[in-house]
Amino acid sequence: MASIKGSANVVIIGGGVIGLTIARALALQGVRDVCLIERATPGAEASSAAAGMLLPQVEADAQDDFFTLACQSRDLYPSFAAALHEETGIDIELDTTGTLYLALTEHDQQEIEKRYEWQSRARLPVELLSVAEARELEPCISESTVGALLFPNDIQVENRRLLSALANSVNKLGVDIVTQTNVDSLIVQGNRVTGVQTNRGRIECSVAVIAAGSWSGFIKSSSPCKIPEIEPVRGQMVCLEARPQLTRHVIYSPRGYLVPRRDGRLLAGSTSERVGFAKYVTAGGISTILRNALEISPAIATLPIVDTWAGLRPMSADGLPVLGRCDEIDGLFYATGHYRNGILLAPLTGELVSKAIVSSKR
Ligand SMILES: Cc1cc2nc3c(=O)[nH]c(=O)nc-3n(C[C@H](O)[C@H](O)[C@H](O)COP(=O)(O)OP(=O)(O)OC[C@H]3O[C@@H](n4cnc5c(N)ncnc54)[C@H](O)[C@@H]3O)c2cc1C
Repeated sequence: MASIKGSANVVIIGGGVIGLTIARALALQGVRDVCLIERATPGAEASSAAAGMLLPQVEADAQDDFFTLACQSRDLYPSFAAALHEETGIDIELDTTGTLYLALTEHDQQEIEKRYEWQSRARLPVELLSVAEARELEPCISESTVGALLFPNDIQVENRRLLSALANSVNKLGVDIVTQTNVDSLIVQGNRVTGVQTNRGRIECSVAVIAAGSWSGFIKSSSPCKIPEIEPVRGQMVCLEARPQLTRHVIYSPRGYLVPRRDGRLLAGSTSERVGFAKYVTAGGISTILRNALEISPAIATLPIVDTWAGLRPMSADGLPVLGRCDEIDGLFYATGHYRNGILLAPLTGELVSKAIVSSKR
């Protein structure tokens, strides 16, 4: 393995969707000598495990700050996808068909009506559909459907293609991507970052960004500053194959979802389990996902299962992303805790964190 460079201007720790998006945004703003350090390979963890749904409206109960940011990030996707396509030739398969949210019980129906009321009052794009209208859009939905909402602006992206495009883009932009290398600790002198210690040597830098997903809290620091605790929340996924594809929309219910991919894969998710770093699929997890997917569409019963996997969503103490400058240590930035929404929030996170870094250097 080649030796690593001893210094960089900015070191980004973690090559998931968040680290890669920040690296690209910095390089596009003209920041030179950016080094991204990834323990395994880019996109090895949660970012590849995700379903790629960009759904700020589907589950939102109120128009709070998080909701506003999430909508802003979703709305950056068309230009983000076009720019990545131009830079790399990779189509990230942004699918703007929209999302159908099914009510499958009377209780679900009360919930979706509440969601429809506040969102239509806020003049957000949402339609209340009859069962017949929903079935006309997606004939595969269950006979038990009692109502549905259509969210035309809640869309999806092929997140694994997104990761390939980002890795390709940052490579072309001259970011130094160092793989198979673990950052063990930050080196802090006084109240300033002066470098990072990796298992392959030390890299001097004046800016370090912690974008290490569920492992962010393991990076040690020689200063008393406490790096935020991030807890992994396991999500399992089942991948079916449907040729021809069963649905055009993402179909969501309060208990599960189906996400159609262009190549015939049909993703069914997911679970939400606080089981530490145990990143494997379980019989119980797969059984729950399939039960919830069959509730949405009994038509999946005859489809082959072609893959299963699990990933670890990075969750902060309050469930919200931890973004921006560390108050105690100059040169330290956080971009972690994206929990269930890292793919959705990536474009905005890239913009916000890169701008904060650039302005701190002025
Ligand atoms: C089943 C499932 C479904 C999901 N569906 C969606 C969805 O539909 N929409 C959505 O928006 N989000 C979804 N998510 C959430 C999304 O995947 C995460 O929020 C997002 O991937 C977090 O990105 P990240 O870059 O912070 O973390 P990660 O992708 O986990 O990347 C962190 C990287 O840091 C590296 N690393 C860790 N420690 C170190 C170290 N010390 N040194 C060097 N490298 C290190 C890791 O190897 C890893 O590659 C889903 C997640 C799961 C598990």
